[in-house]
Amino acid sequence: MRDRVYRTEAVIIRRSDVGEADRVLTILTPLGKQRVVARGARKISSRLAGHIELFTHATLMLAIGRNLHIVTQSNPLERFDRLRTDLERIGAAYYAAELVDRLVEEADENRRAFALLLATLRSLDAGAAADLTLRAYELHLLDALGYRPQLHICAVCGELLTESTDRFSASAGGAVCPRCAIADRQAPPMSLPAFKLLRYLQAQPPEIAGDLRISPATRAEAERLMRAYLHQILERDLRSLAFLEDVRLTQHLAEPDHADTTGMRRFAQGDNDDSN
Ligand SMILES: [Zn+2]
Repeated sequence: MRDRVYRTEAVIIRRSDVGEADRVLTILTPLGKQRVVARGARKISSRLAGHIELFTHATLMLAIGRNLHIVTQSNPLERFDRLRTDLERIGAAYYAAELVDRLVEEADENRRAFALLLATLRSLDAGAAADLTLRAYELHLLDALGYRPQLHICAVCGELLTESTDRFSASAGGAVCPRCAIADRQAPPMSLPAFKLLRYLQAQPPEIAGDLRISPATRAEAERLMRAYLHQILERDLRSLAFLEDVRLTQHLAEPDHADTTGMRRFAQGDNDDSN
């Protein structure tokens, strides 16, 4: 028989309020994704409240409930406090959490996905370039979950790709050779630097991404290509993308004194989560 209480390592990837004072948490563990409930966590007196913030890496004690299992204790291992002081990093962490939430099914064991999320949160917390860190995360997560984009052989005919490759077809599943590109006129162009960047990030450990020196144009292009590819798989954009874009606009256009970031901050913290 199973114990009534058990322990698991977890990262909190989503939070929503339910009832008078409870929170439902979506957690990613090495054994998969799970929804659990933290009873009374919104009460001021709650001992749990400070230990179940979004993105926290913790050891949780869970009691088996009739429906959702119940968090009885949380011992934080890493809080990633530094990333919470910067809106772009919060946005990137929110995106990383939402992406794995969307791609991983409940109770679908994937230790690599768990390790990738942790590595990404650590890089963001340590100050690595947020966009390159996310590109590496996307490529490795897709690989871990069986959605690896083709960057070495043509996604249509399987021929080995050369440096003359200049198209990326999200619907075909990756880069396409010049011959197949003629047949698929929908496939957007891809520059050689962007092609090389994606291949490099796919082949190297994700931790190196933040240290690369890459031009802004190539980084923006890599982001567009990956977004098109993810859109094809997920069939819609992630909610956190709008948040990330708002942050960039705010950083580029608004003076810090005038930037109204309160709403965005709340959104990123998951406090006005739509519960679904
Ligand atoms: Zn081909």
